[in-house]
Amino acid sequence: MSGYLALPVGWDAPDFPDAACKGADTDLWFSMNHADQRAAKAACGTCPHRVDCAEWAIARPGEWGIWGGLNGNDRAQIRISRAAAAAKPGDIVDRHGRPIPAHVKHGSPSTYANWACRCQACTVAAAEAKRAYLERANDTEDAA
Ligand code: SF4
Ligand SMILES: [Zn+2]
Repeated sequence: MSGYLALPVGWDAPDFPDAACKGADTDLWFSMNHADQRAAKAACGTCPHRVDCAEWAIARPGEWGIWGGLNGNDRAQIRISRAAAAAKPGDIVDRHGRPIPAHVKHGSPSTYANWACRCQACTVAAAEAKRAYLERANDTEDAA
């Protein structure tokens, strides 16, 4: 993958000899263009390593680009859903340790802000929203 060349030494990205992206134009995997992203996702869909590849990136919240057919937003949603699924009733409390009313939905940055919910799902959702905001701010700076 040509995209690997510019990356820091020690970056442990998956590099499977028989990956569908091997020898392909890897700019597609790191493009903001939707058509490019669709093409990259389609290639990942034929790759025998897509599950391992996706898990590698899901475990690295700061990672960008498409891995295992998932872009950064797809992976953020998976992290939030997994955090929600792992939550026990006692975890769903606000930052003072008080329970949150049953009708409130979790896995959302607004629940983190408005209810001060510190359950895993809301904490992950708030962190993901902040990360996406900083990424957008960075893109705007780069474009300026
Ligand atoms: S799943 Fe996609 S990004 Fe991962 S190795 Fe395969 S083709 Fe490359
Ligand atoms: Zn919550």
